[in-house]
Amino acid sequence: MMRLPRFRYYAPTSVREAVERLAASPGDAMFVGGGTDLVPNMKRRQQCPTVLIGLRRIEELKTIADGIGLTIGAAATLTSLLRYPQLRDTHRGLWQAAAHISTPHLRNMGTVGGNLCLDTRCNYYDQNYEWRKAINFCMKKDGDTCWVATSSPKCLAVSSTDLAPMLIALGASVTLADASGQRDVAVGDLYRNDGIYYLTRRPSELLTTVRVPDSRGWRSTYWKLRRRGSFDFPVLSIAAAVKRGPDGNVETARIVLGAVASAPLEIREAGALLVGRPLDDDAVEQAAEAVAKVGRPMDNTDFSLLWRKRVIRQFVTYALHEIRGDDVREVRRKLRTEDFIEI
Ligand SMILES: Cc1cc2nc3c(=O)[nH]c(=O)nc-3n(C[C@H](O)[C@H](O)[C@H](O)COP(=O)(O)OP(=O)(O)OC[C@H]3O[C@@H](n4cnc5c(N)ncnc54)[C@H](O)[C@@H]3O)c2cc1C
Ligand code: SF4
Repeated sequence: MMRLPRFRYYAPTSVREAVERLAASPGDAMFVGGGTDLVPNMKRRQQCPTVLIGLRRIEELKTIADGIGLTIGAAATLTSLLRYPQLRDTHRGLWQAAAHISTPHLRNMGTVGGNLCLDTRCNYYDQNYEWRKAINFCMKKDGDTCWVATSSPKCLAVSSTDLAPMLIALGASVTLADASGQRDVAVGDLYRNDGIYYLTRRPSELLTTVRVPDSRGWRSTYWKLRRRGSFDFPVLSIAAAVKRGPDGNVETARIVLGAVASAPLEIREAGALLVGRPLDDDAVEQAAEAVAKVGRPMDNTDFSLLWRKRVIRQFVTYALHEIRGDDVREVRRKLRTEDFIEI
């Protein structure tokens, strides 16, 4: 049985108290939302904080509100996000991304902020301590070498958050706060393509809020490749959001590739190719080609990397077909990514 290491636990009731508590134990302390990522990592000794600052008692972080756009507290659970009235209609892609995260029990605990700060994953890293010790560890924790690419100067562990690609496609931003103040950053700028230093969030900063802009005129969708249809981390995902004008031509489009690098990647060229024209087969094919050209999955998650690369083109095509109103239910059913989830 894997046991947790010893740690002290604090349960602040305000953002100020939480960031001050963290500032009092720099280097040693981490925030914990639902703990569905951090606790298993601690058991495997991948992350070893001696102080945990729980966010579950901070009411201001749990609210979800709709005004001009959607404001989501970082400690809102994935279940509460999924149950938010009309989310499935107003932000379909966000609903789909959240609904495909882990299992109902884990979604009851897991939070939006925890999902955005989720650790990167790799077959050589997501193992227990003894397994990792047997290969002399790796660069991400306790070792020097990257076993995926031994000449790589940086870790190539994979960004595995389902919400981040979708929130980037929707043009969302987050607020980060610490004892000295707060700042807003676009979700796309929250990530760095580095498996160890994958967040631009400073260690002292608490992610407090996610802001999703007004969705009127937009359609969005999320396509996720995973081994098990019941639950599994993504090994490839496509998040797409498109705004069309009254003439049916695309005004703005964002396509984001998830789970193939250490950060979600927005393929701006693909979005730009769609602008000013209808979402016809030619446009879809060109955008799919542009995304497939950039996507280079690494050989450190599930499935063959060559096959995952081929699926990129297909998923972009499905996503854009779904956005333009084609019936893709049969494809989703076959891939077991249909919206079968009862929330
Ligand atoms: C079996 C299993 C399957 C899973 N499948 C998926 C999946 O398919 N897709 C997916 O995306 N995830 C998956 N997860 C991971 C996880 O359940 C979710 O990502 C969840 O949303 C994480 O949220 P949490 O609150 O539990 O994070 P925690 O474990 O509490 O925290 C995760 C990280 O975020 C930091 N953190 C948490 N909140 C904040 C904050 N507000 N500000 C700053 N830092 C913060 C923590 O310090 C930690 O580093 C899975 C987990 C398990 C165990
Ligand atoms: S990509 Fe390399 S350094 Fe990073 S976790 Fe995997 S083996 Fe370790």
